[in-house]
Amino acid sequence: MASDCIFCKIIKGEVPSKKVYEDELTYAFHDINPVAPVHILIVPKKHILGIQEMESEDRELVGHMFYVAKEIADSLNLNPDESLKGGYRLVFNVGRDAGQSVFHLHLHLIGGRSMSWPPG
Ligand code: AMP
Repeated sequence: MASDCIFCKIIKGEVPSKKVYEDELTYAFHDINPVAPVHILIVPKKHILGIQEMESEDRELVGHMFYVAKEIADSLNLNPDESLKGGYRLVFNVGRDAGQSVFHLHLHLIGGRSMSWPPG
């Protein structure tokens, strides 16, 4: 835990959040400034600055974050059907040039509308 980190404070309950899911490794909550009808952040309880600071020992944790995202998407009926209709986007912004503004690892789950590619 980092004392000056907003997401560590959210995990500890010192800053309010709209919780979606929690387990021993992760905490998920609604983004305060959503860019789509569904915008959820999946955050590890371990303070890791971002993918840029990920270590070999964090591989399972990051894989778990993707699994949590898929489970949340299932619960919201976002996963694509057999015809591959529907869907959502999972995003790690890595570094300021990619749009990272909070330096505690987080996976964006964005959905509920169609999206274009490439991103801006
Ligand atoms: P990124 O720009 O990839 O670092 O994403 C950080 C995200 O955290 C942004 O989408 C912000 O809207 C979101 N955010 C920042 N502070 C809070 C907060 N207190 N509660 C919920 N989401 C937040």
